[in-house]
Amino acid sequence: MNNKILLDASEMPRAWYNILPDLPFALDPPLDPETMQPIATDKLVRLFPEKVVELNTSRERWIEIPEPVRELLATWRPVPLTRALRLERALGTPARIYYKYEGTNITGSVKLNSAIPQAYYLKQEGGRRIVTETGAGQWGCASAVAAAEFGLECKVFMVRISYEQKPQRLSMMRAFGAEVVFSPSNETSVGRGVIARNPAHKGSLGIAIGEVLEEIRSGAGGKYLFGSILNTVCLHQTIVGLEAKLQMEKAGEYPDIIIGCHGGGSNFAGIAFPFVADKLGGKPLRMIAVEPSACPSLTKGQFRYDYGDLSRTTPLLKMYTLGCDFTPPAMHAGGLRHHGSSPITAALYHHGIIEAKALPQTHVFKRSLEFLKTEMIVVAPEAAHAVAAGIDEALECKRTGEAKTILICISGHGLFDMSAYDDYFAGRLKDEDYAVAA
Ligand SMILES: *Cc1c(COP(=O)(O)O)cnc(C)c1O
Repeated sequence: MNNKILLDASEMPRAWYNILPDLPFALDPPLDPETMQPIATDKLVRLFPEKVVELNTSRERWIEIPEPVRELLATWRPVPLTRALRLERALGTPARIYYKYEGTNITGSVKLNSAIPQAYYLKQEGGRRIVTETGAGQWGCASAVAAAEFGLECKVFMVRISYEQKPQRLSMMRAFGAEVVFSPSNETSVGRGVIARNPAHKGSLGIAIGEVLEEIRSGAGGKYLFGSILNTVCLHQTIVGLEAKLQMEKAGEYPDIIIGCHGGGSNFAGIAFPFVADKLGGKPLRMIAVEPSACPSLTKGQFRYDYGDLSRTTPLLKMYTLGCDFTPPAMHAGGLRHHGSSPITAALYHHGIIEAKALPQTHVFKRSLEFLKTEMIVVAPEAAHAVAAGIDEALECKRTGEAKTILICISGHGLFDMSAYDDYFAGRLKDEDYAVAA
């Protein structure tokens, strides 16, 4: 059974694809929270590596991947494209289901694709220290690994609910020498303020982001590596879709439907952006961003400027948002617990170029078990949203008899999330609706 489409090391993409010059609309610029005017570059480079800021507005279609970055990516890339033959058979669907499984690197998630180049830029620019946050822990792990590789210090504010639920990720960060504190922490006025109001607060990405910014602005030094949302992060993730496109060509296939889960939008961007120009050129291609119904930024949010953090200190981005003071319920798909979205995926959705769909978590876990038992992969609770939507589409094909080709991005493994499955088996998972949660 030949179900894997492989690439040679020499076929790994040499450049990332920048979608900005191909967008058929203008993006609204980030705003300065102090003036509400487009933010000056020098303010952004105080927070982020200069190259991250520069690439965020680049009009070059292809951005060469620096050689030291390629070398590190090549420790696990190119990632095979797999045809889910056993799943197809079990479902009895005429659909052809392909997936890119991004859980094979040491951190178990897609995020390392962007942490490596960001840490590399920081090192090149003379930086010594990374300060960042992490929801479920994958970005913290990716930052810790990339920091260690380039000889940088790394401090991570980890959302408290994950700090308690996912101690293995904590150990992994520490194994690579990172300093980890839970958020809300006692180390910043943002954290202390939240704790004063509610000592048992389990944290949120919005709070953790506020803590990182306060620490950097306090003069403690360091730059913020951001794991999603930014155009530059979406750019870095296009290596996933570029590989997939090449692999589909090798298989003589082209996708009818592309599916990725959507937290901040970067892994969805990674799988989908290299195909967007085809869609704009008339290909009848559907691209579906899947989010949790407990945190449905695209499907229930508003398209407007908003802050990225609870304390309203980040630059404002034009995006789909549930409001920066929204605290999502403590669900297991920690990486999808953000109130906002990537400005590019938001605008693509606003213009009807991509679709979005929100799924309740019990449905997501039910489907991910079907995948687990056939494809033998424990997918991350985040990625399970994409898997669930993919299976739903495949079953729709079974109903209509159409043999569509479906391409799914599986953004990471869930081996550290087995307690989520235990909660599902024990009937402890509730389908919290956004209206109820808010
Ligand atoms: C962080 C993360 C996500 C969500 O982030 P995006 O930027 O939307 O990709 C999804 N899956 C995994 C495994 C993650 O680590």
